[in-house]
Amino acid sequence: MSSTECVFCGLLAGQGETTWVARRDGASAFLPLAEGRLSPAHTVVVPNEHAVGIHDATAESLQAVVLLAQAVARAMERSIGARGVNILNASGPDSDQSVPHLHFHVIPRWQGDGLDTWPSTVSSHPLDDAWLGEVRAAIPA
Ligand SMILES: [Zn+2]
Repeated sequence: MSSTECVFCGLLAGQGETTWVARRDGASAFLPLAEGRLSPAHTVVVPNEHAVGIHDATAESLQAVVLLAQAVARAMERSIGARGVNILNASGPDSDQSVPHLHFHVIPRWQGDGLDTWPSTVSSHPLDDAWLGEVRAAIPA
């Protein structure tokens, strides 16, 4: 998918309706569609530069998006008393990623709020015992 077909790139370019929470040079934050909100003040943070996910994002985009997620989390604590956040991301075709533009959901949490964000199932994908060495060897120094 090119950035010209990307719904989040479209929003960033001013096409379509959204509610902005923050606009910065390298990253922006907005409210998801109402039917997708997991909590009040649930916010989506994206890099302004198109990347599908964590695999292809530039270092500059990652820095900008994580720093904005931190600023949003701090603001949620100061302004609406959320003393915790869950940050959710899905990257890649087998990850249940909804929109193929890197995004982090910043979900404010309050004691006793009733939300359960920890997965209740585990993967059944099999790997042989060599996996740890293979992953370690594939990480650039
Ligand atoms: Zn995009």
